[in-house]
Amino acid sequence: MRKKIVAGNWKMNKDYTEGMSLFSEVVNMVNDEVQGQQEVVVCAPFVHLHSLVALGKGNQKVSVGAQNCHQEEAGAYTGEISAGMLTSIGVQYVILGHSERRQYFGEDNALLAKKTDVALKNNLKPIFCIGETLQERESGKHFDIIKSQLAEATFHLSAADFSKLVIAYEPVWAIGTGVTASSEQAQEVHAFIRKEIASKYGETVAEATTILYGGSCNPKNAAELFSQADIDGGLIGGASLKSRDFLDIVK
Ligand code: PGA
Repeated sequence: MRKKIVAGNWKMNKDYTEGMSLFSEVVNMVNDEVQGQQEVVVCAPFVHLHSLVALGKGNQKVSVGAQNCHQEEAGAYTGEISAGMLTSIGVQYVILGHSERRQYFGEDNALLAKKTDVALKNNLKPIFCIGETLQERESGKHFDIIKSQLAEATFHLSAADFSKLVIAYEPVWAIGTGVTASSEQAQEVHAFIRKEIASKYGETVAEATTILYGGSCNPKNAAELFSQADIDGGLIGGASLKSRDFLDIVK
């Protein structure tokens, strides 16, 4: 059975003190809700990560993730953070390919392929994001876009390495807009993603891949979205900033 994950993406929110209290609340509340093949991940700003790992120590159910890493191992890249640095402080996950990084920081599929490699090499598990813009959906190109985002950045991996990825489908038009994909729209794309993975890596790998939905997921719509056959949890932005909402989504 594949793992179910709810991951919070705090983006550039919460100062240090706020971040520590939010994480403590999440750890305290979430513990009883998370069973067996289920995991909660909190992806926080870099400056919080070391302390969050310490706060979560001994907790098997809540993991800490970063929101980005650099594509090189080390060197003269002023202001950047490497995958190895993240691993060295106990971070387990890293979000890669988020549409905000694609849009505002010009990250393309070729760069994301490198970031995926360096993350895996350093034992970080990528939460790899793909998704179409509104214009791409309206012109009927969404399946092609999703296919190329997936193939160009991840299909060079061996099956063993691909199996370490978590995929997140996040339609750009649903991120932070309050407009959620309907459960049918999301399920249709998730099934397509799983089919693409199956044709590249076979049924076993495809069936074991966790595919998250992201984009205005909230306590009201989470249950219906997560009940779809190919939706294995969510990547949560805005609603992960309030412990109560985040817990309700986890529940
Ligand atoms: P949102 O963000 O839940 O605020 O729409 C999701 C994301 O960007 O990961």
